[in-house]
Amino acid sequence: ANFGFKKVKLEEKQEHVNQVFHNVANNYDLMNDLMSVGLHRCWKNSFVEELGYLKNGDSQIRVLDVAGGTGDIAFRILEKHKGNNLFNGNLKITVLDINQSMLDVGQKRANELGYQNQIDFVCANAEELPFEANTFDAYTIAFGIRNVPRIPKAIGEAHRVLKQGGKFQCLEFSKVQNPVLSFFNQFYQFNFIPTMGQFVANDRNSYQYLVESIEKFHSQQDLLKIVEEAGFRYAGFKNYMDGVVAVHFGFKL
Ligand code: SAM
Repeated sequence: ANFGFKKVKLEEKQEHVNQVFHNVANNYDLMNDLMSVGLHRCWKNSFVEELGYLKNGDSQIRVLDVAGGTGDIAFRILEKHKGNNLFNGNLKITVLDINQSMLDVGQKRANELGYQNQIDFVCANAEELPFEANTFDAYTIAFGIRNVPRIPKAIGEAHRVLKQGGKFQCLEFSKVQNPVLSFFNQFYQFNFIPTMGQFVANDRNSYQYLVESIEKFHSQQDLLKIVEEAGFRYAGFKNYMDGVVAVHFGFKL
């Protein structure tokens, strides 16, 4: 498997990834703002818009946010539904992440925002979800899938735990379509992100991994193929900023 540009045994990739996110957990939110010059906020907002409004009638709506880390996607979904009158408040989000250090930051933020009753935090692996089949109405994963060693397995699990009609949505860095923009994007990532990691978080290596893992990740078409092979229908993707990031989606029918 790839650990950035380094080749590691498939069984060892997760261990390396866990060390990276354990190291960055406390600086993660600040570094996201700095590295993406705030853009990750726009991408996450658009991603949550893409999910639409979850309408629940009288039953509870359940969303699973995998690799949910410090809770950014979960908070945005709750925020969006707060003022909507189609929705009667019965929305429950499960934030799942393999890294307890990331979840600890998320739990603290949830308490501060007053969301503790609507979110639960579960420490588990995306490749082996600890839930029964047909449990969730939506599955989201943002900037998480490229860290998972066995991507088809994780997307297969997404399909299993979704209810019929449930939506899968994945936000991830992708391949920039325009060669000029692609050059500048890579130049920026390779030069600035590790340096920023060194000075702000005193951890160059973790941020070097992040950049290299972006560079090595699947193209839009390849990831779409995996989503379709997992059984999702009406699957597709949408580029943001010409493919700096892409949203993949599909439905369990
Ligand atoms: N979704 C959050 C966001 O957008 O800010 C966090 C993204 S962070 C870049 C990637 C997260 O994936 C980390 O919190 C890491 O612990 C988690 N992760 C890595 N491998 C995982 C796995 N196999 N199962 C679940 N989570 C995993």
